[in-house]
Amino acid sequence: MNKLNHKKFYINGAWVESNSDTLLDVINPANEECISKISIGNKIDLDLAVSSAKSSFLKWSNSSIEDRVFLLEKLKTIYQNRFDEMTLAITQEMGCPKDFSSQVQTQSGLDHITDFIKRLKEFEFESKFNSQSNNYIIKEPIGVCGLITPWNWPINQIALKAIPALAAGCTMVLKPSEIAPLSGILFAEMIDEAGFPNGVFNLVNGDGEGVGNHISNHPDIDMVSFTGSTRAGRLILQNASHTIKRVCLELGGKGGNIVFADAPKNSVRDSIRNVMSNSGQSCDAPTRMLVEKSIYEKVVHEAIDEASQIIVDSPEKSGDHIGPVVSKVQYDKIINLIKLGVKEGANLAAGGIEKPENLTKGYYIKPTIFTNVNNTMEIAKSEIFGPVLSIIPFDTEDEAITIVNDTEYGLGNYIQTSDSDKARRVAKKLRSGVVYVNGNPMDAGTPFGGYRQSGNGREGGKWGIEEYLEVKTITGLV
Ligand code: NAD
Repeated sequence: MNKLNHKKFYINGAWVESNSDTLLDVINPANEECISKISIGNKIDLDLAVSSAKSSFLKWSNSSIEDRVFLLEKLKTIYQNRFDEMTLAITQEMGCPKDFSSQVQTQSGLDHITDFIKRLKEFEFESKFNSQSNNYIIKEPIGVCGLITPWNWPINQIALKAIPALAAGCTMVLKPSEIAPLSGILFAEMIDEAGFPNGVFNLVNGDGEGVGNHISNHPDIDMVSFTGSTRAGRLILQNASHTIKRVCLELGGKGGNIVFADAPKNSVRDSIRNVMSNSGQSCDAPTRMLVEKSIYEKVVHEAIDEASQIIVDSPEKSGDHIGPVVSKVQYDKIINLIKLGVKEGANLAAGGIEKPENLTKGYYIKPTIFTNVNNTMEIAKSEIFGPVLSIIPFDTEDEAITIVNDTEYGLGNYIQTSDSDKARRVAKKLRSGVVYVNGNPMDAGTPFGGYRQSGNGREGGKWGIEEYLEVKTITGLV
């Protein structure tokens, strides 16, 4: 990555100086050192980017599917060639251990590019209403899109937005997270190298109060696609209401994970690995483990044992371990919630507020487990967004379903059982966009998104492309 681009923005096909002189340090959370500085853009920067996206819309929206596929395939090759650079950026900006960065974080971007190319090739942009009708249904790109992304799965979230928006024929301005902006800058370099027409993709760095707010307010932005906290999602919805723009929200979660007495052998250990993975910083992490009372003691024992085997270490090291959490702000928030859990009367069974041994510098937190939690405690209600699990006992299937659904969120829930009828029955009753049975992963191209305060959008596959389209009926064609 060209370090000179860190303080610049990518607007109308060129790297340009910011109009603001505000700089922000990018901190490596593994050692608390400043690894770069980015510019925090202002309204003038955003206006320039929006105007460039607006000017290029007519041409790009009328480009052929073959042209879009050709450029996306070029982008894919460049992404593959610069794969290791992307891994390094993610490892440094968010402290993700380098093997996980490479095999999961960076790989997710490549997987999304690959899958969206496939979906674009088969996407029906025009169809006849039915064989007797002279009505046609046309799907057209919505226009200029503002894409706002978080730091926890940085390139995953960028790819889930920018690639389908490009595929749909939209033009866009991306504002990556100011906490982890390097992967976004590298992505813009890749777009440039691929040769997308000037103005189709623009990048402006900044914070939520500045560039983020200007995006949701902007009269020439037709749609905002946002991934981040429910708090910011609410503000964006309010702001966007002035211009009635489409708002696609992918927000927080507090996943429930029902462990029935007939759970398959490794499900508790796998669940612990899942919740602690990425240092607990995943929106669909199974952070509330509900355990059937008949196996409660056994499960707690197994969970504590598994958590004690999870190594916390530097992201620079190879191997299967977890790194720090992303920032001082997140670190303080998580530690305070752990203290609150103790105060609320939950039993701190593993981990806690002390730093792991030999890791005095950096925002490291031990895998932490609370037992005897009830669902009214703050630790069971708030999205902690760190390596912290709450274990809650239950008696009956209905009680477990009620507890899981008793949250303002509805993103990812989990079921562990060997009984497939029970799995189907319970999965249908859980109010969330995804239900994972026995840890089965989602296939590429399936939709991901939330119910309730976890959001209103669906990303991935043909659903991800549809988010960026308007639907038009043309009647009377012969
Ligand atoms: P955040 O809401 O603080 O920030 C996300 C992005 O929004 C950043 O780019 C930030 O600058 C911007 N932003 C903040 N306030 C804004 C405002 N008022 N207007 C416009 N933009 C604003 O979230 P975060 O801490 O970066 O990310 C973690 C959150 O993201 C968690 O809640 C997590 O669950 C959620 N998340 C959800 C999904 C999903 O698919 N549902 C995926 C990943 C992360």
